[in-house]
Amino acid sequence: KASERESLLLVTEFASQFYSDCLWNTEKGKAIGLTYFKERGFSEATIRHFGLGYNPDQWDAFTRAALEKGYQLDFLEKTGLTIVKKPDRDGGEEKHFDRFKGRVLFPIHSMSGRVLGFGGRTLSNDKKQAKYLNSPESDIYHKSKVLYGIYYAKQAIAREDACYLVEGYTDVIQLHQSGIENVVASSGTALTPDQIRLVRRLTQNIVVLFDGDAAGLRASLRGIDLILEEGMNVRVCTFPPGEDPDSFARKNSREAIEAYLKENARDFIQFKTALLTEEAASDPIRKAETIRDIVSSIARIPDRIKREVYIQECASLMGISEGVLFSTLAQMGRKQA
Ligand code: ATP
Ligand code: MN
Ligand code: MN
Ligand code: MN
Repeated sequence: KASERESLLLVTEFASQFYSDCLWNTEKGKAIGLTYFKERGFSEATIRHFGLGYNPDQWDAFTRAALEKGYQLDFLEKTGLTIVKKPDRDGGEEKHFDRFKGRVLFPIHSMSGRVLGFGGRTLSNDKKQAKYLNSPESDIYHKSKVLYGIYYAKQAIAREDACYLVEGYTDVIQLHQSGIENVVASSGTALTPDQIRLVRRLTQNIVVLFDGDAAGLRASLRGIDLILEEGMNVRVCTFPPGEDPDSFARKNSREAIEAYLKENARDFIQFKTALLTEEAASDPIRKAETIRDIVSSIARIPDRIKREVYIQECASLMGISEGVLFSTLAQMGRKQA
């Protein structure tokens, strides 16, 4: 099994080189892929640093190149980079397709820098095409266990003793290019305990940066409870409507980005309390639900002293007695939702 994993890693390593070679050294790659990245404001150095690539817009350009180099079809299929279509009942031949045909690629690395899989972005405006497509689950790629950018960010996370968590690949890259290197992305999936533990090996402090569209915000609140449960300190920061960290970083200097983050990053419990209290406004029933929701977040925090401090804080923010909050907390116990 170890040798099979190694075979898959050799395939992804080859693929990463192939995609990057297509981006830099083919006419189409330069005209389409490289131009796309440059138009997004990525410098050549950044594009190389992150190993970005391009899969030609042909059915099987990658698969043919890999087979010619002697990589086995079985392994190409297991990494998901090649899709094998068996002959149908009327016969015909078995066919092979490139999963990432016509897409620009973001290699996803392990903590130690091995290529585990890819995120591929479409360049077409066809709404029927998923904007991003990722490698499927395999023996080497488990989406719940990887964080995009961790290999490039780990030293900066340890040095700064803090980690920014963003939503997408381009947010990681643009912030890195701006000089903020302690950034990783969950890549569109809900945060998992395994992902949080990757960060916790390096720091106790995490700052979650939300896209300004707010769509994901409510849904992400639960995921953040998981970070509290791991005993980490969580702050959150939102961006202006229509902006995400990528677009914001592109328009602003490093100093302005750092100033924005400093000014707008708020303690998670305080943020959630303010957000939900505002939403519940003057509706007593919703306000009661809100209080339970916030206490359930506080109940996740392992450190008893921190729990007490938050209870006091929230009591005053919500205008309710500490006694009621403490007894609600006691009823919930830790862990319970
Ligand atoms: P871009 O700036 O390239 O348009 P983004 O990174 O800002 O994209 P978002 O729409 O904010 O993309 O989504 C955040 C992340 O969620 C993406 O980076 C990607 O990992 C994932 N994602 C977005 N759309 C899809 C999709 N259609 N299918 C799968 N994953 C997706
Ligand atoms: Mn760098
Ligand atoms: Mn974006
Ligand atoms: Mn975004």
